[in-house]
Parts: sequence; C-alpha cells; structure tokens
Amino acid sequence: MRHVAIVGSGPAGFYTAEALGKAFGAGIAIDLLDRLPVPYGLIRFGVAPDHQSIKAVARRYEKVALTPGIRFLGNVHLGADVSIEELLHYYDAVVLATGAPLDRRLDIPGDDLPGVIGSAAFVGWYNGHPDFADLRPPLDVSAAAIIGNGNVALDVARILAKTPAEFTGSDIVAHAFEALGASAVRAITIFGRRGPHQVAMTPKELGELGHLAAASPLVDQADFPPPGTDAMLDPGQRKSVEHLRSFAAAQPDGAKPKTIAFDFFARPVAIEGDGRAERLVVERTALDASGQARGTGETYTIAAGLVVSCIGYSSPPIPGIPFDQSLGRFPNTDGRIEDRLYAVGWARRGPTGTIGTNRPDGYEVAEAIAAAFPPTAEPSGRGGGAGLDRLLDSRGCDPVLFADWQKIEAAEVAAARTGFAREKLVRLPDLLKAVGR
Ligand SMILES: Cc1cc2nc3c(=O)[nH]c(=O)nc-3n(C[C@H](O)[C@H](O)[C@H](O)COP(=O)(O)OP(=O)(O)OC[C@H]3O[C@@H](n4cnc5c(N)ncnc54)[C@H](O)[C@@H]3O)c2cc1C
Repeated sequence: MRHVAIVGSGPAGFYTAEALGKAFGAGIAIDLLDRLPVPYGLIRFGVAPDHQSIKAVARRYEKVALTPGIRFLGNVHLGADVSIEELLHYYDAVVLATGAPLDRRLDIPGDDLPGVIGSAAFVGWYNGHPDFADLRPPLDVSAAAIIGNGNVALDVARILAKTPAEFTGSDIVAHAFEALGASAVRAITIFGRRGPHQVAMTPKELGELGHLAAASPLVDQADFPPPGTDAMLDPGQRKSVEHLRSFAAAQPDGAKPKTIAFDFFARPVAIEGDGRAERLVVERTALDASGQARGTGETYTIAAGLVVSCIGYSSPPIPGIPFDQSLGRFPNTDGRIEDRLYAVGWARRGPTGTIGTNRPDGYEVAEAIAAAFPPTAEPSGRGGGAGLDRLLDSRGCDPVLFADWQKIEAAEVAAARTGFAREKLVRLPDLLKAVGR
C-alpha cells in the first residue's frame, strides 16, 4: 500500500488523484488537502459564475473524490497547519498542486491606492472566495480600467457590464450580485500594451461581448494591421481578430448605456488620485522589430475610479520547499522538485493554460510516482492518512471531509433557492453550523 498526499484540490490536484487511482488501483491511499473548506480551486473561485458549462467539470472531480481510497481534507493549510517535512514523514510522495493564487503587482506609482485591485481579489470577490468576501470594490464610479489582454480581463469586463437579468442561471454570490446591480460603472476600458493581433483572448469569450444587453464593445479601426495580415495568424487567433474587427466596424448601440472600449498599444504608467484611484496615466506604445511593445513617450490621462489588473499570478513560497523567486513558482524538472516531492498545474508551470492543460501534468507526475514507488501489497511503512489525522487532531485542526462539503453545497443550493444570502455561508464557522456539524 502506498500513501500519497496531494496539496491543492483544483484541477491539477484532481487530475493527479485520478491518474494515481488508475495507476495503483486499490494499492494506494490518497489524501487531497486544501487550505479552503471546499474543493475545486479556481473552478469554484476563478472561472466566471456565468460560465456554468465550464464549471461543470467539477462533476468529474466529484467522481474522483468519491473513489474508495481517496479522501478530501479541507481546511488543512500546508505551511500553517502542517509542514512539508511532516507530510513527507507520513506519505511516500507529496504532490504540490497549490496553484498560483497571488496577483502580480502592476509595479507603477499609485498601484497601492484604494480602488486598485488585482484580478485574483476581484474575481475571488464575485465568486465567493472567503479571503475576499469583504473586498467592497468601488462601484460608485463611472469609469473602470482593466489592465491586461487575456481572458481574465474579458471575464472582469463582462461581469462589470452585465445587467442583473443576465446573471440568471449563474452562481454569482449574493453580495456581488447586489453590488453589481447597483454599480454606477458605465465606461469600461481594457488596456493592452500590444495590438489586436497579439491578444491572448479566445474567440468564444470575445464573441460574448457582442451580445451583451446593456454594453457595446468599441475598437478603433486604426489599431488594426492591414486585413491581409490576418492570414498569418493561427485559426483561433484569426477568429478572435475577426470579432475585434466586427466590433470596430459596428456602430455603438445608442440604446446601450455601457461601453467596453479596447485601448490597444497602451501601457499604464501611473495611477493618480486624491486618496483613491481617480485617473490612469497611460503611455502610447509601438511594436519594435521583435514584436515587443516599446513606450513612445506620448502620454495621456483617462478617468478610472476602479482599476483591475489582470496581468498574471504567482505562487507564494512554502517553508521548507525550494522556490524560484524570479519565476514565482517551485523549480522542478518534469514535475519533480526533489526526492519524493512533485509539483503539478500552475504550481509546476506557472499561471498559463486552460483547465485541460493540467491533465497531462497530473498523468505525467502519477507515472513518475508509479515508477519510483511501484505498486505493492505490502505496507509501505509510512503512517499515511491515519498519521496525519493524529497530528492534526493534536493541533486542534478539524478538517472538512468531502461529505461535509457535499452538505455545504446542498445548503448553498437550497439557500440560493430560498433567497438566503449565499455569502453568509462563506465563512467556515457559519458553514459548519449551517450544515449541522
Ligand atoms: C479568473 C480565472 C478564470 C479562469 N477561467 C478559465 C476558464 O473559463 N476555462 C479554463 O479552461 N481555464 C480557466 N482558468 C484557468 C484554470 O482555472 C487553471 O488552469 C486551473 O485552475 C489551474 O489549476 P491548479 O490546480 O494548478 O490551481 P488552482 O485551481 O488554483 O488550485 C489550487 C488549490 O490549492 C489550494 N492551496 C493553495 N495553497 C495551499 C496550501 N499552502 N495548502 C493547502 N492548499 C493550498 C487552493 O486553495 C486551491 O484550491 C481561469 C483562471 C483564472 C485565474
């Protein structure tokens, strides 16, 4: 019998558990630990609440969690409740699937003003992440700036632009639903250092902006290279550029009170305001021969009382684990950090790729573990989950098991039906009381 701990219950953690289960069958006991009381990582707290078909991948993870030999232990924080040395003592192998939850800072003057918010915090707020329940983003302002040209920027723009009716069928938390319903934001601008050909936005997400009830997307025709050059792009990128060209060609719909403007070749260089964000100072850029954006020295100012930076993420270091500060993640070779210690998903590769990109990671690391610790019917000599349980108990930690989480989810669904504010369930003591634990 082998014992493996996977730390982090997002996609990478679940794909690794699935792959290990397949490789070892009944010969493995897997503990999936998470610092939060609930599983699924960014599927729950990152993916937009109006993208329910994407969130449905959690059903696959639920099957994994219900597989005999696999336990979910929520509310267990590696680095606070338990150390890596302790996990390596109890388990044959430990897999870090802790993601990249920290916002990369803008690192420009004024980026610490109230009203400047990283996307992990903003997205966490509208998705009910307990760390951001009290964020209260300023929505009493008319202009919002979103910095970054990826899908997260599109998610943030769309959520700011939607009418309450457009959230029907979503699982947006009540505090965000109410605040967004009362929002004064009308002018949303998305800033990108490069141009339409360089966006990291996918066609489906871009296309959605063309069908919003109360907002028109705006793009300047002058930002495009000649149409013939689109042929050089790969098909997905070409489709994205087609959407942008169609936005540029359309007349803004005067009946729609909100706008989502794309400001390409634009690099924010400062945020200014009297005690809070009020304006963004932006430098015009141009592409150099290698395709990099270079500042032209020409600057302009645009009103922005809310600034959401969507420029990427990094992982926090964990005591006792090698960490590459410049890369913002755990250095590894093909997922192996050091003897018996592995990394998968965003903790391994950094914050890139879609949910599915994490699957091969999990399978590759599971293969490496199976090669290093061949399945055996003999006891491995490690204390495994029973050892961890005793340790956590001695520290007064009370892990939330998968069955507890299922009760929490059922209570949330029922609460949504009865109109009970879902965010009341976000804090752990309330959660556990609400499900009778
Ligand atoms: C805003 C946003 C929207 C996205 N939308 C999409 C989308 O629509 N479609 C798509 O394909 N991809 C999307 N992605 C990408 C996708 O979410 C990621 O590829 C995926 O979640 C990465 O998986 P992961 O398991 O590595 O990390 P995560 O999903 O972040 O999971 C990490 C887990 O580790 C836990 N953890 C962290 N530190 C510790 C610790 N010290 N101890 C215990 N537990 C810990 C966390 O609580 C979390 O549950 C989105 C990403 C973001 C940020």
